[in-house]
Amino acid sequence: MKEIHVTGFTASVTNAELGYAAEFFGIVLLPEKLDKNICVHIHVGDVADDSFGSCIWTDNNHRPRIFYIEIKTDMTRAKTIKVLAHEMTHLKQYAKGELKDFVTPSKRHLNKWKGETVERNQYYWTSPWEIDAYGHEPGLWEMYNMRLKADAKKLRQKKKEWEEV
Ligand SMILES: [Zn+2]
Repeated sequence: MKEIHVTGFTASVTNAELGYAAEFFGIVLLPEKLDKNICVHIHVGDVADDSFGSCIWTDNNHRPRIFYIEIKTDMTRAKTIKVLAHEMTHLKQYAKGELKDFVTPSKRHLNKWKGETVERNQYYWTSPWEIDAYGHEPGLWEMYNMRLKADAKKLRQKKKEWEEV
């Protein structure tokens, strides 16, 4: 990621860790060149509707690089990280051009998924971008925990070295 800002508050995960997790998911989900050009602002707080989070681009619909992700506050640690993984998958879809939002002259909201037009909100659970996002949640959560363990090992090793000096 080029830039990550985290604002807001949740009791279950620190903002610093959310930034660390977003960076990790960016590395996993995006080609390196693309990842290095992405800016994301993550805000933890009250979220509209009954949703757990959202991801929108804020620059333009063609190859967006600047994103705003909202995460609902006061969820468990696992749920918070999984929702971040879900929203980072939507970021990946927009950044790679897999998913595009647009409005027709008659003001209908449509999405394009890999070049094909899909009516927006018609089928939330069966839309290809939600299947992709929900499908990534468990794997990204698993990988994130492995990464945390690996980093903890490294940190312990470092600490040992420092103590030996
Ligand atoms: Zn989603």
